[in-house]
Amino acid sequence: MKRVTSRLPVDTCLICGRTDVPGIHILNQLICESCQQKMIATEVTDWKYRYYINRLSLLKPAAVKQAARNKSNRQWEKHHQV
Ligand SMILES: [Zn+2]
Repeated sequence: MKRVTSRLPVDTCLICGRTDVPGIHILNQLICESCQQKMIATEVTDWKYRYYINRLSLLKPAAVKQAARNKSNRQWEKHHQV
């Protein structure tokens, strides 16, 4: 039995590690919608925000990390202004 591929490839969420969840891809890393919500709801000064950024930065070099942070912030904003 073949799994039907949705518009996004099946992947593992970088934050919560769940698979088979809808979300966005940032630098080939999946952030599921649930985690996006949490990240958006998280204050920048909140320790959780640092945790998320840390999670993102674990896999990428510093330069890419910075770009990802800026880029992803914009993507999340766009996502939620709809
Ligand atoms: Zn997640």
